[in-house]
Amino acid sequence: VGSAGSLRRLVTRSDGHPALVVPESGAVLSYAGLQRALDRAAGRLAAIGVREGDRVALAAANGPALIVAFLAVVASDAVAAPLNPTLGEAELTAELGDLRVSRLLHDGVASAVAAADRSDVPASVIGMAEGLLHIDGEAGSALETAGSPDALGLLLHTSGTTSKPKTVPIRQRNLVASTAAVADTYALSGDDVTACVMPLFHVHGLVATVLATLSTGGTVLLPRFRPSTFWDDAARHGVTWYTAVPTIHARLLTGTEVGGPLEHRIRFVRSCSAPLPTALWRRYEETIGVPLVEAYGMTEAAHQMASNPLPPRERRPGTVGLGTGTEVVALDDDWRPVPPGDEGEIAVRGPSVVDEYLDNPAATFAAFRNGWFRTGDVGRLSADGYLSLVGRVKELINRAGEKISPYEVEDVLLTHPSVAEAAAYPVPDEKYGEQVGVVIVLRGDATPRELTLYCAERLAAFKRPVRVTILDSIPKGPTGKIQRRNLAGLVGGGS
Ligand code: ATP
Ligand code: MG
Repeated sequence: VGSAGSLRRLVTRSDGHPALVVPESGAVLSYAGLQRALDRAAGRLAAIGVREGDRVALAAANGPALIVAFLAVVASDAVAAPLNPTLGEAELTAELGDLRVSRLLHDGVASAVAAADRSDVPASVIGMAEGLLHIDGEAGSALETAGSPDALGLLLHTSGTTSKPKTVPIRQRNLVASTAAVADTYALSGDDVTACVMPLFHVHGLVATVLATLSTGGTVLLPRFRPSTFWDDAARHGVTWYTAVPTIHARLLTGTEVGGPLEHRIRFVRSCSAPLPTALWRRYEETIGVPLVEAYGMTEAAHQMASNPLPPRERRPGTVGLGTGTEVVALDDDWRPVPPGDEGEIAVRGPSVVDEYLDNPAATFAAFRNGWFRTGDVGRLSADGYLSLVGRVKELINRAGEKISPYEVEDVLLTHPSVAEAAAYPVPDEKYGEQVGVVIVLRGDATPRELTLYCAERLAAFKRPVRVTILDSIPKGPTGKIQRRNLAGLVGGGS
């Protein structure tokens, strides 16, 4: 078995160039330091008894210790299961059991300490000292591993936007393929510096920010996320790009108002994981003056499946671009492709796409067939391959058989100067089955009546919201996505 396609050889750079930088503390880990830290950490993992195929849970805040621990676990041919470190003790304990992990590595966060006590899972505290990963625990004996591309590298949960999160077993070759897709799409190189603003317990941050950068010899900045200091840090450390969900781009726009005029060497910004409203896209490009590029990713494809290309190639607003090493089709209910321009459920196939869900044969049977994975997203492909997403199968609003895209309604509302956030959802209706409801967060003055009229001037009658509710905030999942299925319950019965 060769090591091509295995994560063991993903990080090849080994000189003094900065790999990981923490702006708050000024700590810098060079590539030489990273390689030393990895060797040491892999040795320590073997010494505390971590073996090939073992599942190792990681509960730690974003930072060098988490990244080195993750890389050391996969380099040992063990399986990393990064968990949300802000989960409570009971939730973490349940995760450790469900995932059948054989060890927990944590950074001392209280809930993890308690969960380790409550379960029978042996735990080790990790941290960086003198640029080396420290892992506590009793010594055992070391072991040589093979580094197979087919080995599982990562167990991750989907975001739980449409139902209970599903666990996705991601193989080393899936991770390597998705990492290469990101690096190739944006021509990442050793001169690039990225800022990590996404959590590392989902593929967006882990693959698109960390693995794509470390595999191309660039630098990952690990700031504590604050819109008021982000642009200063970005300028000071020469950030050339970053990737995030649209909510974060919106918050960083506010940061430009706080932080004053922008000086930076950013060459592009990537948006992924939730729909990018056209109004936000325009406002962002006008203010920051760099191309904002929308991509499409999901846990089941180890992150990236499609992206708009960088200029001078054509970015097409309202689309998530072209397949990036992944075949993309739109299917009918019988798994037959629909003609270009027609709506269908998007399915994908390629080296980054996984084969199944973990311990969930029913969900696997429903979504995986002949190498294809049905994404649960509805979209249209143009004749030249650009993909437009219209919504999730489970979130389309069905008004007397007419399917309405929540994204289209939200996009219209977000062009209103007083609307900061908008989310559309189905309101049960006796006559039509469902009608459109919207919840709004304001950043200026507007009444529900004005917003209803605004929609009436811009949307066909059947797509107009019959209920407009103004809220202080719209609840979002752990990766910053709106859970539209919860909105009806939140708003209640009145109109
Ligand atoms: P669950 O599968 O548990 O319901 P989830 O689908 O949100 O949660 P992820 O794997 O984190 O979990 O997210 C993938 C989904 O995110 C895609 O299926 C799609 O609905 C959405 N998504 C990703 N990128 C975009 C994008 N650019 N525009 C619109 N939606 C996107
Ligand atoms: Mg999903």
